[in-house]
Order: sequence, then structure tokens, then C-alpha cells
Amino acid sequence: MEREIAAEAEIEQLAGLISEASRVVALTGAGISVPSGIPDFRTPGKGIWAKVDPMKVATIDAFHRDTRGFWQFYRPRFEMLGEKRPNAAHQALVELERRGRLEAVITQNIDRLHGMAGSGEVVEVHGSIETSSCTTCGSSWSLAEVEALFDEDGIATCGGCMGKIKPDVVLFGEMLPLAAIERARELAEGADLMLCVGSSLEVFPVAGLPELTLSAGGQLAIITQSSTPYDGRAAVRLSGDVAEQLPAVVAALP
Ligand code: ZN
Repeated sequence: MEREIAAEAEIEQLAGLISEASRVVALTGAGISVPSGIPDFRTPGKGIWAKVDPMKVATIDAFHRDTRGFWQFYRPRFEMLGEKRPNAAHQALVELERRGRLEAVITQNIDRLHGMAGSGEVVEVHGSIETSSCTTCGSSWSLAEVEALFDEDGIATCGGCMGKIKPDVVLFGEMLPLAAIERARELAEGADLMLCVGSSLEVFPVAGLPELTLSAGGQLAIITQSSTPYDGRAAVRLSGDVAEQLPAVVAALP
């Protein structure tokens, strides 16, 4: 009970910060998609990585060395993610934008749920399952189209040049998409409020973004269940269900 009252005060406080800020940027991680039924791979024993070693299957090396094994892991994951839909937390960010209170969303998630919810600018620093590309000629296909390109060995091949097709997500050992990283940094530096949702803020490049906002004189608000390295420097800290608390913040806006 006491916790609910405390959260209510923080929800009001966050709504106040959002209404006073002129440039608000959201930074989201796995926690915003948990209410959509996508487990956070860091949750012990529960996530998608519980039974496999990601350093063995989800690396750019593994993709080239054992493409079949790579797709054996990734294809069901694609199918699982393809069926997921945005939740109330994604929708709340769309509503903030619609009211002119949110400039953009930077996300670590590859599930493309922000775009599906209707967010305008979404900066996907780890790529997205939305498209896959030929690693030889660069041709690109949508998530729905890729399924038709698998051969009987379970490998997706480019019909044009017979090159290997890879999902446009950043694999371990792969370069981050430079344009997205630069845009994320620019947004973070220009924000007077960064709204961090469902991220433990520990994984590069996202881990460095709140620092840019703070250094430029902006403030941080954090809504996530796990602890983060920035907790002590956040103006507001919420730790409940993002699909309840984020809509509550929007509802509390003046
Ligand atoms: Zn090709």
C-alpha cells in the first residue's frame, strides 16, 4: 500500500518533468516488451538464451561458419517475435509523441514493436527483425518475405546471387549501425529529459547515452524493474510494471 502511494507521487512528478521539458527522448530496452510476452533474455533461466550459449549461435562468426545452425536458432525466434504485438507501454510513448511531448524513441530492442505501435522516429541501435539482407549483394526482404527463401537445409539464400541472407540485427562481434548510433547520441545530447524505460542501461551503446544527457545539463527519469548504474542520478525512479506506470504518467499530464 505504502509503495502504491509512493509510486503515485513519482508518477505525478514524472508527468510534471515531461510537461516542463522541451525535448524529451525515450530510451527503451527489453523490459518494455516483457508485457508483450517477449521474455528479457537476462531473466535467469527464463529468457531465450537459457538453453543456448549466445556466444556460440548469435555471433557473426557462427553465421558464416555454421549458417544452418544459426538459422536453427534464429528461425523459431523470428516466428515467435513475428507474432508479438505492442503493449500499453509502447502505446503510451505514441500518445506522448502525439501530444508533442516526445521527440523520438531510441531502442535496444529488435522486435520492431515501437514502429508497429505507431511511433514516428525510432532509432534501433541493435537493428531490427523487420528486414533481412543478402550479405553479398545487399538485397533486402521483409520479415514476411524471408520465410519463403529458406531451402530444405533451413538456410535462407538470395535468389539473385545465391548469397547468404542475414537478419538486419546486430550480432555479437558485429559492428553497430553507425548512422543509428550517431543519431542516438545527437538525441541524447539535445534532450533535456531522457525517459529510460525497461533497460538496465548496462549494454553499450545505450549505457553511455544517459551520461550524454546529464553532461549536457538534462535530467533522467528511469522506469525499470532492475537496478541501473544511473539510479542515483535519476530525477525520478519508478520500478513497477511499465505497461501500467507509463500510461499512468500520460494520464497524469496536465
Ligand atoms: Zn544477393
